[in-house]
Amino acid sequence: MRVMLLCWLFLQTLTGAGAVTLVRDHQPVAAIHVAPAATLPERFAAAELQRYIQQATGAELPVRVGAPAPDEVAVVVALVSRLGDLGVTARGREKALGIEGLALRTAGNHLIVAGGGPRGVVYAAYDLLERLGYRWYWPGELGQVTPELADIEITDLDRVFEPSFVRRHAMGGPSDGWDDMQWGKDVVDWLVKNHQNFWLQNPPGEENAGFLAQRGGTYTKIGSGHNWQHIIPPARYFAEHPEYFAEVNGKRIPHGQLCLTNSEVQKLLRDYALSGAAQMAQNPDVMFVDMTQNDGDDWCQCAACRAIDDRDPSTHADIVFWALNPIAEAVAAQYPTALLHTYIYSGSANPPNWIKPAPNIHCEQTNYCYNYGASFLNPNSGPGTTFRANVDAWTPLCRVRGIYEYFGFYNWLEALPVTYYRLSEEVQYYKRIGVHGFYSETQQRWSTNHLLYYAFSRVWWDHRTDVPALIEEYCRLMYGPAAAPMHRFTMALETAGGPDRYLSGNEFDLPRLFTPAVRAECRTALDEAKALAAGNELVKRRLAFLELGWRYTELHLEAMEAHAAFRRAPGAETKAAAKGAWQAFVDYFSELQGTHAFDRNDLQHFRRRAENELAAYTLDLTSLPPGEVSYQDGLYDGGKARLHGRVEGFYDGVWGLSLYARGNGSLTYEFGAAAGHVWTEARLSLEASWREGLTSAIEWSLDGATWEPLAENRRVSSGEPFDLTSRVAGQPRFLVRVRYASTLPDEVAAVHAVGLKGLIE
Ligand SMILES: [Zn+2]
Repeated sequence: MRVMLLCWLFLQTLTGAGAVTLVRDHQPVAAIHVAPAATLPERFAAAELQRYIQQATGAELPVRVGAPAPDEVAVVVALVSRLGDLGVTARGREKALGIEGLALRTAGNHLIVAGGGPRGVVYAAYDLLERLGYRWYWPGELGQVTPELADIEITDLDRVFEPSFVRRHAMGGPSDGWDDMQWGKDVVDWLVKNHQNFWLQNPPGEENAGFLAQRGGTYTKIGSGHNWQHIIPPARYFAEHPEYFAEVNGKRIPHGQLCLTNSEVQKLLRDYALSGAAQMAQNPDVMFVDMTQNDGDDWCQCAACRAIDDRDPSTHADIVFWALNPIAEAVAAQYPTALLHTYIYSGSANPPNWIKPAPNIHCEQTNYCYNYGASFLNPNSGPGTTFRANVDAWTPLCRVRGIYEYFGFYNWLEALPVTYYRLSEEVQYYKRIGVHGFYSETQQRWSTNHLLYYAFSRVWWDHRTDVPALIEEYCRLMYGPAAAPMHRFTMALETAGGPDRYLSGNEFDLPRLFTPAVRAECRTALDEAKALAAGNELVKRRLAFLELGWRYTELHLEAMEAHAAFRRAPGAETKAAAKGAWQAFVDYFSELQGTHAFDRNDLQHFRRRAENELAAYTLDLTSLPPGEVSYQDGLYDGGKARLHGRVEGFYDGVWGLSLYARGNGSLTYEFGAAAGHVWTEARLSLEASWREGLTSAIEWSLDGATWEPLAENRRVSSGEPFDLTSRVAGQPRFLVRVRYASTLPDEVAAVHAVGLKGLIE
């Protein structure tokens, strides 16, 4: 009988089967064991298990040092390499785990919680806690879902897991600094719990030393984005060596790209790469060395560069890799595991037809402004299909490729609903084509975008994550009695505009996305949720946090729509209504202060923008006070043309004032000084298009009766302002008019922006 039992136990150990009871009826049954020489992350993982199991059950499992007895019920927490110290034999798959891989298994009386490296063991602890029902949807206590359990019994668990992607980076800490230390720590803690692993910040202060080390540390890199300008700073080199820098239109300029055929430039880049690779060899946390082009374009047009760069005129990536590949080879010769890092982006976005990146260059491809709304795998995603073509074209060329996202690089604070249509489909595709990892520019908009942050963290961790199920679970676990209306709320936003929608990321997408119908549906659902949560303090507080951002959305959209109503029917009544709506929106910002609904700096930025919109309602261009005048209106959706000027014939197109087929339009501004004052300087700038089939005239006048031309039948850009100073100096007022007539059968955008800089004395 005894022999039989031993055999049975032996079999259980081999298959990872068994049942381990950690807690029974709120009483501890198991102890947590760590090795005598356990590292910080191993001890932290054990402490987190102890803390959260106690929160869920009331039972405090003791933490003990050393191997448990075979008949003792124990949770064994260790690096795989240290399992032997605790009497556990690591298996082959466990021994093969990478530093972020994790293993969870039951073996006889023991539950093994192990990691391939420091973060792996911490992730293993959180993975177990998630199995118990814990979730962390946003930073801090409010975003945490805590299960309430009387018993914990783990049965037949055998899990060995490696993250789907190596790099998972969207944020490193609180984006608005550490003034609120608790919030800052909560953000980093949330990032770790949701497996972000790059450039995580340690909270400042001696008392926080070890905060990140406990959590297994972080990947880093040498250098920062767009760092050619830091490797070869114009401030240091341009005066003496203009030849290091790009020649543009016959002139060397300090702030473009580098002259990559210059041998000194190549040497400086190579020295930087080699020194970075040497640091990388000393520090396994360094993932790569940045060798990234400057932002913007301005590629070198010198004869030597053009001879390389023009071989494929569709891209500048050819000269980038022509310059970086020999450097990468020099690095590989000395540091075989080092990686360089560069962008395939903007001027280098298209793949070159004659050269490919060296295998030790991590190429990060930016998903840049193609279509934020639809998945690029959706054949109806418009410009998204361009991005897909580019993604596919680079696949055979890059050995190591990252994807650079913009899940927060956005011109609004409202929700960015890309979780449902885009995220899982795209990320699964990236997994299939062997993508290494992700970075996303992500401002922190926790009230409106926490589900997106949570969801992309999860799919980057495990590309098989079922996103619709994740959304359903989020609603159920966070909102309990209010789950059903909150699911309606969430899905109304996620599916607004349909799967094929086009979002450029510009603010004027907002009214198309958050239509009155969608907002009404969300408001009804939210109010229903609030009523259902009446007896539940925690759910009420969660809904209140979410409503901070939703109220912002409502007030902003109401103001934008009131402005649109004024444009459609300019008049005192529509003007007063719009002014009131902007005022209500501006006033609302003070309610958001200190709530962490949005990043504080972001909030200031958007508040200024709202205040400018409000100010437009009181600005009278015909009676300007003395001093400098600086007026600018991008005429997107008509802009402020009807507030500040007179519009006839044009309609409000997305890209500016537009003409109907075979239509006529005119736009007139009167620029006047307040009584007793005169203009002393005035420079008018316009962006206005022209092509065959259009007749256009830009004119000025002192009295509105006699007009003189400034330009006719040509495209004008704001870069070549019309200096009116000699014409209007000493005058109290002048007028400017833009006239168009079209013989074209299509509608056409005509005037895109208007600006005036001047002085009144
Ligand atoms: Zn050059």
